[in-house]
Parts: sequence; structure tokens; C-alpha cells
Amino acid sequence: MPHYEFFCHNCKKLFSRILSLVDYEEGEVLCPHCGSQNVEQCWSAFNAITSKKSA
Ligand SMILES: [Zn+2]
Repeated sequence: MPHYEFFCHNCKKLFSRILSLVDYEEGEVLCPHCGSQNVEQCWSAFNAITSKKSA
């Protein structure tokens, strides 16, 4: 199973999930810390986050 990195915009935490493409495309990814669906996939760990540090 593929391994994906995600960033939660709700609690500002990174987490990783192992899930199928079907699960991902159906939007089944929830933050394990707060349960939010407001998550963004991060293909390369911290690059996507440091580039948009506006908050
Ligand atoms: Zn969260």
C-alpha cells in the first residue's frame, strides 16, 4: 500500500497515512489528531508547508 504524507490545516500537524488510491480520491483522509478533513497532501514532507507559512 502506498504511503502518503498530509498536513492538517486545522491543527497544523503533519501526519502520514497508508491508504489506497480509492480511499484518497473519495476524500476519506481525516486528521488523526483532530478528525478534520481540512488536510493537504504533502508529497515532499516539509517543502509544501514552509513555502506557505503565511499564518
Ligand atoms: Zn488536525
